[in-house]
Amino acid sequence: TKLHQETDAIIIGAGPCGLFAVFELGLLGLNAHLIDILDKPGGQCAELYPEKPIYDIPAWPVITGQDLTDRLMEQIAPFSPTFHLGEMAESLVKTSEGLWRITTDVGTVIEAPVVVIAAGGGSFVPKKPTLDNIDAYEGESVFYAVRRIEAFRGKRVVIAGGGDSALDWTLNLQPVAARVTLVHHRDGFRAAPHSVARMKELAAEGAIDFVVGKLNALAGAAPQLESVSVATAKGDEVLIADRFLAFFGLTMKLGPIADFGLNLSENLIPVDTESFQTSVPGIFAIGDINVYPGKLKLILSGFHEAALMSQAAFQICRPGERLRFQYTTSSTQLQRRLKVA
Ligand code: FAD
Repeated sequence: TKLHQETDAIIIGAGPCGLFAVFELGLLGLNAHLIDILDKPGGQCAELYPEKPIYDIPAWPVITGQDLTDRLMEQIAPFSPTFHLGEMAESLVKTSEGLWRITTDVGTVIEAPVVVIAAGGGSFVPKKPTLDNIDAYEGESVFYAVRRIEAFRGKRVVIAGGGDSALDWTLNLQPVAARVTLVHHRDGFRAAPHSVARMKELAAEGAIDFVVGKLNALAGAAPQLESVSVATAKGDEVLIADRFLAFFGLTMKLGPIADFGLNLSENLIPVDTESFQTSVPGIFAIGDINVYPGKLKLILSGFHEAALMSQAAFQICRPGERLRFQYTTSSTQLQRRLKVA
């Protein structure tokens, strides 16, 4: 199903800088849609270090990655941004009306006069196991995430990995799938101890299988998987499987943005420091993805960049309208937008 929507700004990346951009745009009366391939907001803060303390956020002597994300979500709530999570912004084209059109990998289409690229270190993409011909099974029998639990109903599922995702999906799919087999190279995990304990209980009851071994190969007429073979201490084991889920963590890759037709410098997007606009008018880049003389890849730099970007975005979205400089402490217009007056 295609979704066609219009807004003032499309923000690619819901990391801290993309989130704060919603706030700065919102203060100026501009609304925004955010796209992120992760299934949650927060970018690196939420995905890579949710529990680590950050010490250089102004006025927060210490705050964790997840708490910073939660605070930003609270701060932008009055502006009701639309989130498209679990979607990859794949293409960018200009429409005949002069708007930017972004299409995502699931067919969402959004048009806006302004695009803000807040893509950080790039999009988070799954690390794949090195198995011959694995690409040929992807999308049909092999997956790196679960988008719909129902797609696994009645299937024989082999899950590989030893972190929280592998354990959580072993537990969540067990009641739905015909059979779940967890494969990990050792009998030790990097997951919440209570999930590990529950998995072991289910294995002891015979409700799932747990195999310690190394993935060898996939078999079956691609794209339909028939089995996964695993090298164990007792020799090779062939696990009959309709579906294979691998959870080997995520890595960051620039991804489709490389093909948006923007000037790039070592995979970063050069911008001017007055408005953080790229080489293409109407397309801005803020946060870790941009580069300019003196750039510091810090969250606080991205916050400042979001404020200046928004001023320039206003001129594009509301041509001819005058923008008055106002303080949130004293402007009733800003306070109305913030829903506090
Ligand atoms: P990111 O947080 O990288 O978010 C970008 C988002 O864009 C990602 O979620 C990605 O999935 C998404 N995305 C990219 N391309 C696409 C696409 N095509 N379609 C859909 N989604 C896409 N900074 C500090 O200031 N202080 C610290 O103490 C600090 N400590 C750190 C500790 C660690 C361990 C790490 C890894 C980083 C730390 N940083 C710190 C750096 C800080 O996390 C980054 O500067 C910040 O996350 C950048 O924010 P961002 O919004 O630009 O991008």
